Amino acid sequence: MTTMNERNKAYLFYKPTEEIEEKVQAVRSLGRKYGFTLVDDPQDANMIVSFGGDGTFLQSVRKTNFRDDCLYIGVNDGRVGFYTDFSTTNLEKIERGLQSENIEVLRYPTIEVNVDGMKSFHCLNELSIRSNIIKTFALEVYIDGNHFETFRGDGLVVSTPTGSTAYNKSLKGAVVDPKLQSMQLTEIASLNNNQYRTLGSPLLLSKDRELVLKIIQDGNDHPIIAADNEALSIRHSHEISIKVSEKEIKTLKMKDNLFVHKVKRSFL
Ligand code: NAP
Ligand code: MN
Repeated sequence: MTTMNERNKAYLFYKPTEEIEEKVQAVRSLGRKYGFTLVDDPQDANMIVSFGGDGTFLQSVRKTNFRDDCLYIGVNDGRVGFYTDFSTTNLEKIERGLQSENIEVLRYPTIEVNVDGMKSFHCLNELSIRSNIIKTFALEVYIDGNHFETFRGDGLVVSTPTGSTAYNKSLKGAVVDPKLQSMQLTEIASLNNNQYRTLGSPLLLSKDRELVLKIIQDGNDHPIIAADNEALSIRHSHEISIKVSEKEIKTLKMKDNLFVHKVKRSFL
């Protein structure tokens, strides 16, 4: 438990447009009322508030480098999403969130990716790797150093628990409880024949596993690699290692933003 007083420096993350500015203004005055200082540099903040959809929330986490000493809060415009628990049309709820003396925190697992032993980064939804041409590409998949399968097809996605309701779900992956520190591997249109054989079903791995994807260099070796909603500018990568990270993203726990509520209100 953290007392609200320690969380008093807020950074507001949004693309400024005239339309949103007015709504942000209302949230700003609420912040002032409860003694928050609005800072211009996210480095100085201990609370980062994004205005927009889940995509904007993902960007706010990425652009501020996955701070684990910060509380991230997503404010949407009207409807609420998976990371956006608040809305500019319901200031009362934001007020309730700011009022509580002792706040409780929800923690979302992330995955840590390393490319060729050099570039390291985190993902909150997923890492996706896809062929960037009309032809397939091939990968060797290793788990904890053991060869697992040879994949040929459109691509692979490794998602976090909170990312399980995004791209992963479109690929018929399982929806995963964020309390289960894990990562899930799903396939995008795998080729299955006598030469290439893949599991064909989603694979859920525990937090102690290491997944390594080795790109087979056969001429079609420039897949697109993306971390959440951002494509990486890595052209010649060979080996990608993925693990569940120690780092977790924290958000404000409210009575109605638990896992079951989110899945139900979005899909049922
Ligand atoms: P987008 O194309 O606007 O996102 C697609 C949809 O996914 C949006 O409705 C977005 O919500 C929603 N979304 C994002 N994270 C989610 C989550 N954790 N659980 C449930 N829904 C979620 O692009 P974006 O907003 O920048 O989001 C990026 C994400 O899109 C990627 O991380 C990936 O998971 C997903 N994606 C899905 C597919 C697919 O399903 N075929 C393909 C590519 C990417 P908002 O409208 O609130 O932003
Ligand atoms: Mn979006």
